[in-house]
Amino acid sequence: QDNNSADHKPRILLMGLRRSGKSSIQKVVFHKMSPNETLFLESTNKIVKDDINNSSFVQFQIWDFPGQIDFFDNCFDFDNIFGGCGALVFVIDAQDDYLDALNKLNLIVTKAYKVNQNIKFEVFIHKVDGLGDDSKMECQRDIHQRAIDDLSDSGFDQIHLSFHLTSIYDHSIFEAFSKVVQKLITQLPALENLLNILNTNSAIEKSFLFDVVSKIYIATDSTPVDMQSYELCCDMIDVAIDLSSIYGVKEEQEPAAFDEQSSSLIKLNNGTVLYLREVNKFLALVCILREDNFDHKGIIDYNFLCFRNAIQQVFELRNKSQSPMTNSIGS
Ligand code: GDP
Repeated sequence: QDNNSADHKPRILLMGLRRSGKSSIQKVVFHKMSPNETLFLESTNKIVKDDINNSSFVQFQIWDFPGQIDFFDNCFDFDNIFGGCGALVFVIDAQDDYLDALNKLNLIVTKAYKVNQNIKFEVFIHKVDGLGDDSKMECQRDIHQRAIDDLSDSGFDQIHLSFHLTSIYDHSIFEAFSKVVQKLITQLPALENLLNILNTNSAIEKSFLFDVVSKIYIATDSTPVDMQSYELCCDMIDVAIDLSSIYGVKEEQEPAAFDEQSSSLIKLNNGTVLYLREVNKFLALVCILREDNFDHKGIIDYNFLCFRNAIQQVFELRNKSQSPMTNSIGS
């Protein structure tokens, strides 16, 4: 069922009842499907392992379990499924009656915890685009309360669950995945620190380190993230990729979205500049800064080169220490 190399990569398991939105999430985040197209997705009725490997920095697998699987069925190798798993994302359809989903959540979480106490448990309260702000909050509060009550009833008070309100119709699903992935990146403090230094020395207001393919940000500086800035940066990546795939130089049949020198610049009419630079094959830096400060572009570019070297080193160190995370940093 498993090949050896995959065992060293962190796994994110995506689980939930049938029709909760798992396949849609996977398609929208990792395969650039537009949300409306998910209406025509066929239901899955087998375990699908989707290897997100070649094109993305974030290397993980999604195991799509159809909702009706009996988790006490002995044919499942739980040690294997949960053993190497970094995070378990459980998707709950907020537009549906969720009591059944909560039962399943409890079963899976307790089962997984017995196998692997290091798993991060992430609950996506999904399809919240159909709810108003008040009912979103009420829904989250209710699900949260019931979920921890259930855990405590089954004697597992020590298990920690994180909750995220998500929808594929806005950026919340990318934001939630970013948070999930960031918990699995042990270099995060180092990356954050480098971004802080870059910002301070270049008069940058906000910067994100993106996995280009999925638009998940794997790190940002320590100032708070506001959704609007994140969305702007996501849109910028889309524009850059679309343009590159039309006009970019083709490399082994694949349109090359980036090369060493590629950069992209968008000036907004509020005196703000968005600046994108390639960090390696998979990662890009997107910065937001005031137009006046962009006058010192030479300094920014120089600082960026230092930043890129430092990032390279952070990941190389990690590789030398035989990390389970990733060894795919571009050369
Ligand atoms: P799966 O069985 O868990 O893989 O569920 P699917 O991905 O097939 O999704 C079931 C249905 O939910 C599809 O019709 C999707 O279009 C819809 N859906 C998925 N995500 C969302 C969402 O965020 N909002 C809304 N309104 N519908 C969604």
